[in-house]
Amino acid sequence: MTSMTSGPSPGMVAALAALALLLPSSSAAQGDSAGRDADPGRAALAELQSDAGTGRAGKGFRVFIVPDMEGAPGTVFSREVLSGAEADCETCFTSPDYEHYRRLMAEDVNAVIEGASAAGATAFTVNEGHGGNDFANIQPFALDPRATLVRGWPKPLVMITGLDATYDTVIFIGAHANAGSPGVMAHNFAVDSLTVNGVALNEVGLNALVAGEMGVSVSLVSGDDVLVEETHEMIGQFEEVVTKIAYGRNAAATYTPARVREWLRSAARRAVEGERKGAYRPFTLEKPYRVAFTLRKSFADKAEEVAALSRYRLERTGAISFRFETQEAVELGHLMNDLELIVF
Ligand SMILES: [Zn+2]
Repeated sequence: MTSMTSGPSPGMVAALAALALLLPSSSAAQGDSAGRDADPGRAALAELQSDAGTGRAGKGFRVFIVPDMEGAPGTVFSREVLSGAEADCETCFTSPDYEHYRRLMAEDVNAVIEGASAAGATAFTVNEGHGGNDFANIQPFALDPRATLVRGWPKPLVMITGLDATYDTVIFIGAHANAGSPGVMAHNFAVDSLTVNGVALNEVGLNALVAGEMGVSVSLVSGDDVLVEETHEMIGQFEEVVTKIAYGRNAAATYTPARVREWLRSAARRAVEGERKGAYRPFTLEKPYRVAFTLRKSFADKAEEVAALSRYRLERTGAISFRFETQEAVELGHLMNDLELIVF
């Protein structure tokens, strides 16, 4: 995702709250483990998929796809992954190329769906993982009609809103390297660093931990070479597609989108086949999770608001550094959403 997003409009917040109020019983019926966290995103998704005939009752092989843009083939500048509609983002620029890259993002997702489908996958949820244009980069009409699309922001678990234990695999494409890594447009939500039990996690790693606690493993990751390598070190085995070789934050030797799409198609097929054979393990760490994070330096003026978040019982360890313990990985997803809401 990108950090250069705007804050939610009052209308968006109201709409989300209204949705939460409309769906309390269906959320409870789906066995939300945390109870207090009735997840309106997940409930809405279940309703939608049920209508589409791809819901839990007739469970086939279910794929959850998280596309981002910084690790897509070609992109090296933020103006290529921002729409210019990100309110309150005075330093954000967009270029006409954004329209091309958002279309390619949908085509990459469609290639994954085709490949996964060829291996027998039957249901596909796509959750916008890129904060440009407020998580509304993929145009629904550009997507394979078999997909259900989670779009917009804020959403309870940001990049994996809607994921639950009924999914058989998670796929991240177009992902970028961790904050501080020498990858293209590298960053990590609104933090300069985040560790769980001392293990540094990037966005894929953090979301993989949440998925892993649900028993869902990551089978395919694409992005630049730095992202792919560091993610293997964090979470282990998965199918990989390297989209470009990073020279630095804003330069890379990139493969063409057409070539990467072919690789994604075949990798997605291998991913589903591999998942069926048990080739990948859900990523887990020991509980309790000891979480430590440092806010991005440019958000130092927001540190007091972060310190005031009561939900996590944060202990302040420095001017912009915090730690806390939790038994639930899903709290990491909520924390990332809360931080985004504070800083943007
Ligand atoms: Zn992004």
